[in-house]
Order: sequence, then C-alpha cells, then structure tokens
Amino acid sequence: MRKTIIAGNWKMYKTINEAIDLANNLKRELFKVNFAAVDVVLCPVFTALSEVAEVLNETDIQLGAQDIYWQDEGAFTGEVSGLMLKDAGCRYVIVGHSERRQFFGETNETVNKKIKAALKHGLTPIICVGENLQERESNNTFKVIQEHIKGGLADISAQDLLKTVIAYEPVWAIGTGKTATPEQAQEVHKFIRDLLRKMYGEELACSIRIQYGGSVKPENIAELMAKPDVDGALVGGASLKVDSFSSIVIKASEVLK
Ligand code: PEP
Repeated sequence: MRKTIIAGNWKMYKTINEAIDLANNLKRELFKVNFAAVDVVLCPVFTALSEVAEVLNETDIQLGAQDIYWQDEGAFTGEVSGLMLKDAGCRYVIVGHSERRQFFGETNETVNKKIKAALKHGLTPIICVGENLQERESNNTFKVIQEHIKGGLADISAQDLLKTVIAYEPVWAIGTGKTATPEQAQEVHKFIRDLLRKMYGEELACSIRIQYGGSVKPENIAELMAKPDVDGALVGGASLKVDSFSSIVIKASEVLK
C-alpha cells in the first residue's frame, strides 16, 4: 500500500510575503477537507523556507526544498546544504529536476551525491527522472530513464531507497501544458518499477512511490492517479494557485488505489 504524495514545486516564484500568503491560503483551504490519505509537500524558494515552515507548523503539510548541495558547509558560494535545509524545517528535497539538469549542469553523478546528502540528513529526496522530446521521438525514453535511475541510485542501499520518492517528469510536458497521457505515464512508471524490481527486489519495488510530473492540473489528476503505478504528482505551475493545487490534492485523495 503506497500513500499518495502530491508535492508543489514553486520554482523561482514568490517573494517571502507572497509565499507566506500562498501557504496560509492553502492551509486554510485544505483544513476544510480530509486529506489524510495524501502526503502534501510544498517546495518554496530557499529564501522563504523558514517563514513557510512557520506557517505549516503543527499542520500535516510538509516542507521541501528545490535543491541541495552535498557538502555540509564550506567555501561553496551560493549553495545550501542538507544540514541547513533541515535547520530551516524541511523534510523533503527535490533532486535532479530537469530544469537543473538543463540549465545548471546537473548530471546523474551530482544527483547521486545530492541523494546521499539528503538521506544523510534525514531528508526525503524526490528524485526527478525524465526524457526530453528528442529522446522520446528517437525511441530512447527507456534508455534515458534507465541511465537516470541507475546513475542516480548508484550505491544507494535498499534500506535507503525506501526513504526516497521517484518523480517521472517527461521534460516535454513540464510547463508546456502538454501532459503525458495516462497510458504514457503508466508505461514509464511501470518500466521504473520493473527496473527497481530487478535492482532491489519485489518488496521494495512495490513499496516505492513514483509521482508523475508535467502539466498536472485539476482536470487531469484523477485519470493519471487511476493508473496502477502512478502514486502522486509533482506539480509546478498549478501549485502556485490555491484553487488549483487544493483541488489537485482533493481529487487525488478521492482516487481509491
Ligand atoms: C515541475 O516543475 O516539476 C513541473 C512538473 O511543472 P509543471 O507542472 O508546470 O509542468
């Protein structure tokens, strides 16, 4: 039995006050409904983490960061460590998002170091994998996913893998309004689960949560969640609006798995 997880990636949006407002409004909206069947995670920008942590204090909504550096401290200008994210109140951290791979030189090796750093500090890494349009159109989707999974998870024990979440995010669907069909998502989620089965065995493969990400909206969450290997969503654009994000959480919680 895998608990559904819906995470909001706020990307580089919201000043501190705007982030406080959004978190407060989401808290108020979700307070009206029963979302106990869903883990809800908000991932604001670094500068707003502490303030959003305060808003979420004593709620069931968790805080996550959007990136992590693998050293605890040192002369690494501009970076933020797991130690610091923990200190700011985070429980989760997104690792290897395609925007970081695309614009900031993230590789499977750096993703692997970041996953290890997150685990060392008791943070749950949300590990993003996914092919771009050219890779999909040249029939290389599974090859790329396999490289992301195998490279990212190098030397990660089964026990540690259980403390992670995988997010399948086809790059061509991120921020484009073009969602993978539920069948396309299911096909890749199943491929990931089968791969994990080969790497770590049946029990772990059945326990690990795999989220879908890429233009998730209130209109498509239910059909995505209805697929057997889709265990939640990593939501970008639609997580920046109270109505759409709370509606995604509510609709996801209504899908019986
Ligand atoms: C994301 O940022 O991880 C994402 C999936 O964005 P969007 O929902 O806007 O496509």
